[in-house]
Amino acid sequence: MASLASTLSCTISRLNLFAELSLNHHSIRIYRTLSSKLRPMNSLYHRRVFKSSFPSTTIKSTTSNCSKNTSLKPVYDDNLVVLGIETSCDDTAAAVVRSNGEILSQVVSSQADLLVKYGGVAPKMAEEAHSQVIDQVVQDALDKANLTEADLSAVAVTIGPGLSLCLRVGVQKARKVAAIHQLPIVNVHHMEAHALVARLCERDLQFPFLALLISGGHNLLVLARDLGDYLQLGTTIDDAIGEAYDKSAKWLGLDLRRSGGAAIEELAQRGDSHSVKFSVPMKQHKDCNFSYAGLKTQVKLAIESKNIDGGVPFSSASIEDQGQRADIAASFQRVAVLHLEERCERAVQWALEIEPSIKHLVVSGGVASNQYVRARLHEVVGRNSLQLICPPPSLCTDNGVMIAWTGIENFRLGRFDPPPPVIEPEDCQIDLRPRWPLGEEYGKGRSVARSMKTARIHPSLTSLTQHQRQ
Ligand code: ADP
Ligand code: MG
Repeated sequence: MASLASTLSCTISRLNLFAELSLNHHSIRIYRTLSSKLRPMNSLYHRRVFKSSFPSTTIKSTTSNCSKNTSLKPVYDDNLVVLGIETSCDDTAAAVVRSNGEILSQVVSSQADLLVKYGGVAPKMAEEAHSQVIDQVVQDALDKANLTEADLSAVAVTIGPGLSLCLRVGVQKARKVAAIHQLPIVNVHHMEAHALVARLCERDLQFPFLALLISGGHNLLVLARDLGDYLQLGTTIDDAIGEAYDKSAKWLGLDLRRSGGAAIEELAQRGDSHSVKFSVPMKQHKDCNFSYAGLKTQVKLAIESKNIDGGVPFSSASIEDQGQRADIAASFQRVAVLHLEERCERAVQWALEIEPSIKHLVVSGGVASNQYVRARLHEVVGRNSLQLICPPPSLCTDNGVMIAWTGIENFRLGRFDPPPPVIEPEDCQIDLRPRWPLGEEYGKGRSVARSMKTARIHPSLTSLTQHQRQ
């Protein structure tokens, strides 16, 4: 029986079954296991969780957070304690968050040295770096929270989008912790987490809202209609803005140890933002999509035309050379952000047509740490009588808090998987989703270039959620 349950639990994830499963007699075993392990700190909550989550003895086993949960009432329990693990790219992060929004700990180990050495993320090296530190990062997060693994209510982990090799390290760790302590596991969409962390920071933030998610790998404008329900208004047809910041910083010989974006932001303050004539991308496209590859090339050409040698570190360059680098940084930043402003302005109009009740623009992801970006977008929302919500920088760049919080939000709706088996069957394939859209494209926002690149894309989180609801 135990092995059947183990195999089944593994198979659920492996096959990514959409339909709700009713686990019959062995469901009672999982139910008992779960009910002893979902451990809000007082028994009243404990009873409430299980009364509302599992109204009968038939457990609603979830597949990849998309349980058909229409019969389940949301569980607003303030005493759940969730560990969040994030390894989708170059940051190994873990955090412990309580469901009342209290951040009990947050630990991030970044791969700055590797970024400097390789000038970008090298998947195999990044995987190795994650593997080396993952146990320590999780342990530090638990220690800082003054908890042990056994005190947790659930484990949340990023399963995509991201680099498969890197995602695997976090998912394996999460499954190990969950299996040993028989904890439920919540599979998290990295970009949903970037958006939802705003609801941790601003507890009154209700759906629907507009979100601009800007990082090294993503440039997304989405209408967040509900948990797991997103309409994609725009995306990048090539590079994300963070990539353009990072490469510009590298070519300008800046210190990349904090991040290319932070280095450009600092240098831009010393430059004349109108001195180098860069053109704003996609002016002729009246949609909400983005493109930063061309701007990157413009920066490269400007650097070459001024005979700047990026191999010479900024600190060793002449005063005149430093000034030219600052001018390029400032001009690049002004135009890169103008592109954001223009797309956001249009996205606000589209979003208000679709959902006239929206009141907020959430801006999150690493590039949202940038004060110039925030100030300019503040102007945009002001013109449209919306409010801007930006999480603090430590919650904008990749972090475990956003994963734990998204785990909590999904968990409350019954969207979680049962504990993995202690010994995973040899043929068990872990469910990783390196290319996993958040939502379907809005009709007006379709991009030809993007829609041609559909190979190996997983069905969107939103389509999975909708499928489960039917
Ligand atoms: P990813 O998943 O792409 O690693 P993060 O959310 O961690 O995403 O964001 C990392 C990106 O954010 C990098 O491209 C980095 O340069 C950028 N970034 C961080 N801080 C700033 C800043 N102050 N200004 C602009 N970009 C920034
Ligand atoms: Mg990162």
